[in-house]
Amino acid sequence: MTAPKTYDVRTHGCQMNVHDSERLAGLLETAGYVDLASVPEGVRPEVADVVVFNTCAVRENADNKLYGNLGQLRPAKTANPDLQIAVGGCMAQKDRDTIVTRAPWVDVVFGTHNIGSLPALLDRARHNKRAEVEILESLQTFPSTLPTRRDSAFAGWVSISVGCNNTCTFCIVPSLRGREQDRRPGEVLAEVEALVAQGVVEVTLLGQNVNTYGVEFGDRLAFGKLLRACGEVEGLERVRFTSPHPAAFTDDVIAAMAETPNVMPSLHMPLQSGSDRVLRAMRRSYRSARFLGILDAVRTAIPDAAITTDLIVGFPGETEQDFAETLRVVEAARFSSAFTFQYSIRPGTPAATMPDQLPKAVVQERFERLIELQERVSWAENRGIEGREVEVLVAPGEGRKDGATARLSGRARDNRLVHFAVPAGAERPRPGDVVTVGVTYGAPHHLVADSGVHGGTYAVRRTAGGDAWEALQGAAVPGKPAVSLGMPSVGVPPRPAVTVSACSA
Ligand code: SF4
Repeated sequence: MTAPKTYDVRTHGCQMNVHDSERLAGLLETAGYVDLASVPEGVRPEVADVVVFNTCAVRENADNKLYGNLGQLRPAKTANPDLQIAVGGCMAQKDRDTIVTRAPWVDVVFGTHNIGSLPALLDRARHNKRAEVEILESLQTFPSTLPTRRDSAFAGWVSISVGCNNTCTFCIVPSLRGREQDRRPGEVLAEVEALVAQGVVEVTLLGQNVNTYGVEFGDRLAFGKLLRACGEVEGLERVRFTSPHPAAFTDDVIAAMAETPNVMPSLHMPLQSGSDRVLRAMRRSYRSARFLGILDAVRTAIPDAAITTDLIVGFPGETEQDFAETLRVVEAARFSSAFTFQYSIRPGTPAATMPDQLPKAVVQERFERLIELQERVSWAENRGIEGREVEVLVAPGEGRKDGATARLSGRARDNRLVHFAVPAGAERPRPGDVVTVGVTYGAPHHLVADSGVHGGTYAVRRTAGGDAWEALQGAAVPGKPAVSLGMPSVGVPPRPAVTVSACSA
């Protein structure tokens, strides 16, 4: 019997890409390939039979990195002409056949709108003995109807929309992912229910701009309704979403968050800049006062909400006064944490050709000041939680130092990272279970909750998520696809970490 061919999907970029990669893995497994990582060490080949790059066009030097990675694979391709290399994602959508001109050893280039074509394109390239490039301008099949191989047994992403109708001048998404397309609420809920039936206890609703959900089928209140409908799903413990846009963040969504017990008290709301002049140049239609007003309304309705954000420093034309406005708004907003980016030119975006691009040294110096401020705010906010009890959904691999500190890690309801110690002789939770512990120390980037070892609160609640995780440990059979067509499937062994960056929505 010949061994099945192996695949290796290498992911760069945002959560959209992470989720798309789950689908690429599902498609390849349905086509008979097995994950390289699931082949036992000792017999595992150095390079898979099919290597797929799911690329990002947002990060600085994204193209240099891609061509560097492709160059590294060239000797393997020369040694084994049957090796197939595919490039998908945003760089592929942007560069198209330039990729096979610059790297003629690439076999397949596919775009963000046709990830479902990958297995057929690989077959065609093999049969025709030439590179296949297929980029579509718009979506043909909503990606969530494709087979999916999920990375976690107890938490899942569910796409509710793709694309974006905004035109932020720093962003490549509108040109690469197209206009917003919404999935029907019935389909979204069917996927959520199917996941919960398989043991998933936490779902994150995913879209470039989740709160405009419904624009395509004419229901402005659709996102709030969807959150409430998720509240009715028996067994679903935690609902999160990412990312909303401040301009479209309406009171009905705040009310739905506050009134739906399984919608978590956490909100990621991208500010980008505190200067109204810069927001105008970014073509972001809200202003800083409106942004702070939303935060007030959220905190009034959900007092324990933790709010996080994205910030861009050094947008073209940003003056010292503009930057001072960002510092002022960040101080007032009391974010629990922030993803902070230095502006860099992203070819193909309107901002790339704006005058007054700032020198790197200026951007760096402002960036450091902003980080210093945000660290101070995050630390003060986290110290304010000391002594409180938190409910932690235990995760595998969240704490890099867990081995050294003998702690376990997970996320609190408000999405804060928590490290906690298990008291001697006490029940040890499984990933996917929920633990209640008291916070003993608030650090700038995480909480320590060692109450259990000091004689305080320590309670483990076993969940269906923990059962699903445990079942998976015995079920990791290399080569056996854990995928079903058209419906989500969970229950795959842990996969290597991916490089994730926030796509500033
Ligand atoms: S930053 Fe977000 S809202 Fe703006 S265009 Fe990009 S995806 Fe749309």
